[in-house]
Amino acid sequence: MGYVCAKCGKKVKGDDGNLRCLYCGGRIIIKERPNITKEISTD
Ligand SMILES: [Zn+2]
Repeated sequence: MGYVCAKCGKKVKGDDGNLRCLYCGGRIIIKERPNITKEISTD
């Protein structure tokens, strides 16, 4: 799992509690969502 900057949308690596975007300096960091879409078919 990783973190993504909410401003520029780049991946941010950081320690817990000390997350800051190194590209734009934004402090709004969101958790990267795994793009795993579970499609359950109940046929
Ligand atoms: Zn950024």
